[in-house]
Amino acid sequence: MTKNAKIIAVANQKGGVAKTTTAINLAASLALAEQQVLLVDMDPQANLTSGLGLKDRSGPGGTTYDAITSDDARHGDRIVPTMIDRLFVMPADRNLTGAEIELVSLEQRESRLRRVLDPLRPAFDFILIDSPPSLGLLTLNALVAADTVLIPLNCEYFALEGIAELVSTIGRVRGTFNPRLDVEGVLLTMNDERTNLGQQVGANIREHFGAQVYETDIPRNIRVREAPRHGLPVVVYDVKSRGAEAYVALAREFLARQGSRS
Ligand code: ADP
Ligand code: MG
Repeated sequence: MTKNAKIIAVANQKGGVAKTTTAINLAASLALAEQQVLLVDMDPQANLTSGLGLKDRSGPGGTTYDAITSDDARHGDRIVPTMIDRLFVMPADRNLTGAEIELVSLEQRESRLRRVLDPLRPAFDFILIDSPPSLGLLTLNALVAADTVLIPLNCEYFALEGIAELVSTIGRVRGTFNPRLDVEGVLLTMNDERTNLGQQVGANIREHFGAQVYETDIPRNIRVREAPRHGLPVVVYDVKSRGAEAYVALAREFLARQGSRS
């Protein structure tokens, strides 16, 4: 049966809010739930690629850099398998650092990634894009290519700082390149429930974003932090950890929401 992947950008211009961690572990949990999933690494730091033990790996056609900058449209050649069945990656490498500048002089610079991913929709159920900690051209490409945006917010003092800027960028993309761009959901990450602060920030975010916030939140958990050093999603590294359980629960809630929308 032909699929028609939904494309989701994981975005927040703040660094360290668990974009990459969420992209890896939501995707891995979805693949374990029988979904065919592609992860796209759009961050020049390539943490997603290395977090899956694929540092310096590329397909025969290269990496995301080649996909967005070259005119060779064999984008399937830039995808590599992972240790999990049904989970695939379009890896990033150092070259992507220069892409932000190279893109400026290319035609249709904002929709380069869309051009790459649209033809891949029939092969996947979900395509998740990990974006860099900025609102530059690479993130813009992710937002233009995506159907929805998943926003991770970490439960600390300034979680909502900068969010107005992200929301207005989403609005701008809607008004120009991608009228149908929607918010997939807001995810509370690194929640330290033992502290009042975690609870307070969580309540604050829920007040601000209402039903867009997932009921599942992700606790701060050492196993989540260790897993990428072993090149594994936490759902593989330690499936019984609280972090892994949270991401599996998130995938379940995520899938249930798809059902109730369509
Ligand atoms: P971003 O991609 O937004 O910059 P990362 O996913 O790289 O953020 O996460 C930042 C750091 O926090 C990483 O070292 C990561 O391993 C760690 N981290 C992410 N989520 C958790 C968590 N739930 N518990 C503990 N550490 C976490
Ligand atoms: Mg990251």
